[in-house]
Amino acid sequence: MQITPNGQEPIVSPRIPAADDKLNILGLDRDELKAAIAEIGVAEKQVRMRTTQVWHWLYHRGVSSFDDMTNISKDVRAKLAEHFTITRPEIVEAQYSNDGTRKYLIRFADGNEAEAVYIPEEDRGTLCVSSQVGCTLNCKFCHTGTMRLVRNLTAAEIVAQMMIARDDLGEWENPTEGRRVTNIVMMGMGEPLYNFDNVKKALEIIMDEEGIQLSRRRITLSTSGVVPHMERCGKEIGVNLAVSLHAVRDDVRSEIMPINKKYGLEEVLKACANYPGAHNARRITFEYAMLKGVNDSDADARELVRLIRKYKLPAKVNLIPFNPWPGTDYECSDWGQIQRFSDLVYEGGISAPIRTPRGRDIMAACGQLKSASEKKSKAALAREAEAAAAATATTEPHHTSTGLT
Ligand code: SAH
Ligand code: SF4
Repeated sequence: MQITPNGQEPIVSPRIPAADDKLNILGLDRDELKAAIAEIGVAEKQVRMRTTQVWHWLYHRGVSSFDDMTNISKDVRAKLAEHFTITRPEIVEAQYSNDGTRKYLIRFADGNEAEAVYIPEEDRGTLCVSSQVGCTLNCKFCHTGTMRLVRNLTAAEIVAQMMIARDDLGEWENPTEGRRVTNIVMMGMGEPLYNFDNVKKALEIIMDEEGIQLSRRRITLSTSGVVPHMERCGKEIGVNLAVSLHAVRDDVRSEIMPINKKYGLEEVLKACANYPGAHNARRITFEYAMLKGVNDSDADARELVRLIRKYKLPAKVNLIPFNPWPGTDYECSDWGQIQRFSDLVYEGGISAPIRTPRGRDIMAACGQLKSASEKKSKAALAREAEAAAAATATTEPHHTSTGLT
């Protein structure tokens, strides 16, 4: 474990032993919660009311113990505690940057790890959430892209990132006033549109009016341009869209983002033009990492303007100074050139702010996230399963109390 740069003690949540005979209800959606509550023998007439109450305590008040659910009768609380747990994944390391950014390394029940980052600003606080452990797409300039995809995160694991951040920031006491996490960006590790169903389910839980209540207008999903799912994202989830563009010519984009060979630049831009709900008040954000000598010329800036105009896109460009990571060959464009690029795009009538890098000192900035999790070979997984089977053969069999897993 590392000591944080500003000398603060990292927060480590207590290790909670795996309670494999109990169902962890954190991250269930309403229907699943209701089914689970019905199954443990709560009186049928009460199931709806108890579901509403437990939902409120779980997601609006953020409690982690059934004892805290004070408007629920003691015997029902005891029943809940007998069958269920409310278990957060473990924060193995929390690092605080000098600029206030906080990075959490989170370990899930199977030992895999992903990162989430909290970025406070003057008028808002943004949580950058991961959707996968690793990524299938190996964008050349991205640290996560050097990992293989280990697995998709479950909806529960995606919601848990929000729960953990709110725990750490102490904001459950007053769940809706003076929030510190005011916005979510699906811009952590992984490609959210390749984990569509879990991301959708997690965001629905987070947006629920009787739970965390984060408005869809405050949530942005970033994609590298998975064209077939972009429309679904607008229709079914309804959040803001950000698209990782990073180049204005197919040859350059294919070189730095291999997915471009599958879904080319103009195809991505067409999908943006068709994005449901994209109008001036809810512009699409184009992310553009400034890579020295690769995509940062004056001609690139002019071409960017031309393309956005051609497709009549209600767009804003976010210029991201390239964030370096160990082993990369890319360099960040010179500051003067980033400013010039920004000016040229502004002159074309499109807003192009330069994103101030945040949390670089703790490797928490865009594209710097990575965890040590590795995709295991089939042989290694089989060995582990055998060892687990041998271990359980010598102990009591496990009981599953609800049938849900
Ligand atoms: N996979 C999704 C979500 C990641 S969002 C996507 O690619 O859109 C993180 C953003 O940071 C993306 O725009 C990504 O392209 C960009 N990025 C990746 N590596 C970077 C780096 N080293 N410096 C700056 N931006 C980077
Ligand atoms: Fe994956 Fe996005 Fe990184 Fe590309 S930029 S490797 S899609 S996380």
